Amino acid sequence: MNKIKIAIDGPASSGKSTVAKLIAKELGYTYLDTGAMYRCATLMVLENGWQENDLDRILKGLDQYPIRFERGQDENQRVFLNNVDVTKRIRENDVTNNVSWVSAFPEVRAKLVEQQQQIAAQGGIIMDGRDIGTVVLPDAELKIFLIASVEERAERRYKENLAKGIPTDLETLKEEIAARDYKDSTREASPLKKADDAIEFDTTGVSISEVVQFILEKAKQILDSESSI
Ligand code: C5P
Repeated sequence: MNKIKIAIDGPASSGKSTVAKLIAKELGYTYLDTGAMYRCATLMVLENGWQENDLDRILKGLDQYPIRFERGQDENQRVFLNNVDVTKRIRENDVTNNVSWVSAFPEVRAKLVEQQQQIAAQGGIIMDGRDIGTVVLPDAELKIFLIASVEERAERRYKENLAKGIPTDLETLKEEIAARDYKDSTREASPLKKADDAIEFDTTGVSISEVVQFILEKAKQILDSESSI
């Protein structure tokens, strides 16, 4: 059977990665968390004490410190920066609150987008991020744009953080999510934007399994129509 490319975009904590992982498992596809790659770039910047005027250093660093994904013993994906497991570290607040300025550099994006497109070229891919449907996989057969209210997204992230043992204040989280959305959607290079041919889905009050079912149905319709040609 043919394999398709699925692009899932949307603002922070809209449930993209949770649903994308479940769909990848169901279809036997590769899942690529592009946000994790921008988070790795940001961790590298913070650990080296680089600032916004250090673009040359940042670009050299990206060539020097490889970002890699591996499946862990618990089947969950692990993220490595320069061969160090940074899966948990890249979710901490300092990385989250600096990622928008690092990912706003067109040169940083060009390097990471190239890697993302190479991974997608192997076929059977589901990728989530901000510019997947518009820039990384403009020819994806299925594009989904997930949205949800800021309140609901902050509450989801709050519960996730609690479960991971990351101390968090709900009101601060709401402000940080809104600020990150604003920066991601108003930057010049590949801003967060719904592709013209993407299906928008508001997940406020909708369960994860309902979102997964909706996307799987769309994917199956495309796969069926392709196999009947
Ligand atoms: O998806 P996640 O919240 O982990 O993404 C972290 C940040 O990485 C986003 O806020 C955004 O600044 C950046 N990002 C991006 N393009 C993508 C994925 C993430 O600019 N495709």
